[in-house]
Amino acid sequence: MGFIFKLLLTALIILVVWWVVKFRGRMSVLKAAVQAAKRAAQQAANAPTSKVPVVLVACPKCGTYIATGTVCICANEST
Ligand SMILES: [Zn+2]
Repeated sequence: MGFIFKLLLTALIILVVWWVVKFRGRMSVLKAAVQAAKRAAQQAANAPTSKVPVVLVACPKCGTYIATGTVCICANEST
């Protein structure tokens, strides 16, 4: 009985150590993911393009409101 108990105890210790290593690995991956998400959020907040709102301007030809920098549909139709 003593031998079987030692064997089970050793197996249990190996299992616990393996589980701890696996859990730590998961935690580090999770931390890295969280840090990456935080960095992405900061970059998005710091990016000048994200702060500039979409400005709508009326097309000089047809009067349709379009975002600045984009070409109106009527311009494509004329060409
Ligand atoms: Zn137009």
